[in-house]
Amino acid sequence: MYKKILVTGGAGFLGSNLCEKLINLGHEVIGLDNLYTGNLKNLESLLSNKKFQFIQHDIEEKINLKVDWIFNLACPASPPHYQKNPIKTTTTNVIGSLNMLELAKKNNSVIFQASTSEVYGDPQIHPQPESYRGSVNPIGIRACYDEGKRCAETLFFDHNRMFGTKIKVARIFNTYGPNMDSDDGRVVSNFIVQALQNKPLTMYGDGTQSRSFCYVDDLIDGFIAMMNSDEDIKGPINLGNPDEFTLLELAELVLKLTGSSSNNNCSNNYCYSKIVFQNLPSDDPTRRKPDITLAKKLLNWEPKIKLEQGLIKAIEYFKSFSKEKNENNSVSRWQV
Ligand code: NAD
Ligand code: UDP
Repeated sequence: MYKKILVTGGAGFLGSNLCEKLINLGHEVIGLDNLYTGNLKNLESLLSNKKFQFIQHDIEEKINLKVDWIFNLACPASPPHYQKNPIKTTTTNVIGSLNMLELAKKNNSVIFQASTSEVYGDPQIHPQPESYRGSVNPIGIRACYDEGKRCAETLFFDHNRMFGTKIKVARIFNTYGPNMDSDDGRVVSNFIVQALQNKPLTMYGDGTQSRSFCYVDDLIDGFIAMMNSDEDIKGPINLGNPDEFTLLELAELVLKLTGSSSNNNCSNNYCYSKIVFQNLPSDDPTRRKPDITLAKKLLNWEPKIKLEQGLIKAIEYFKSFSKEKNENNSVSRWQV
């Protein structure tokens, strides 16, 4: 049955991909965003669609809407962006999430929370199952995000216990793909944009830290599977791709797929000449890989797109984005 669905953070990377998928499935969608890191360009193809509405709004302010489902994605996700105004990051997660929970309670709607692998901090257990309680520095530079998201999870479960609010909490691991902002600051978009510009890739630390990268289409399928699951499936459930890579391996792949490595000296399988090593930010997690046993069992979900395949699609997006910008003769945020 078609639903009326609110997506907070709808103009962001994941939110815009989700809005598009939900519209394609026939639902009516409201994309809500304060445009802090989001961009209306991501919603260009939806703005003229009668089933889509955009509302510029900050979730820290209450709002009254009639909806069946709420996806609460509003929150900057890139470390440089969420660290720019850390207090706002915390309040978005705490006050904003509480406002969305109140809205869900009022409408008797199902509410999905975009939580994060950051609730595990710099994990001492590998890979990370949902039962692991994490290792977060509560006073570090990542705490505004990590603790904000941990507190949001607490609010979700307390709302469920106190009022029976129908909740779904997903812990999302590093995801990449089209609609990431070229200035976003996360590693996949940084490396691709740098490689396309033939600039050295900025490696923070020695590149031996690991992440497990999920392509956006796989993740969005996981969101929808979770919302369609039985009411007693509340989460938290890890959603991510368990294929783990060091950042040196990621850099090597990006250089190969963009062709950016062809003029450089490569040794030991890594193209060091195209990498510039910079300081590792504090509290940067050493390794990260989701245990997705629960998602497989409860949602019958697992990612299908391998890193190389996904990177090819993401590289195409960044290439076409730049080309389109240049053809329109508009101000380009970056030039290849
Ligand atoms: P993003 O920064 O591209 O999108 C976040 C969106 O939320 C932006 O459009 C921003 O303008 C909006 N926003 C921020 N604060 C807001 C507020 N107070 N009110 C209304 N809108 C606000 O990030 P993303 O990658 O699309 O992440 C979406 C959600 O998923 C976030 O909650 C993030 O924490 C979570 N998440 C993402 C990843 C990932 O790898 N992409 C991983 C873990 C968790
Ligand atoms: N990183 C990097 N170069 C960049 C951006 C990020 O080496 O230009 C590193 C960062 O220090 C971290 C990893 O890549 O170890 C993933 O960073 P990202 O910001 O994408 O996500 P998160 O740290 O939240 O997993």
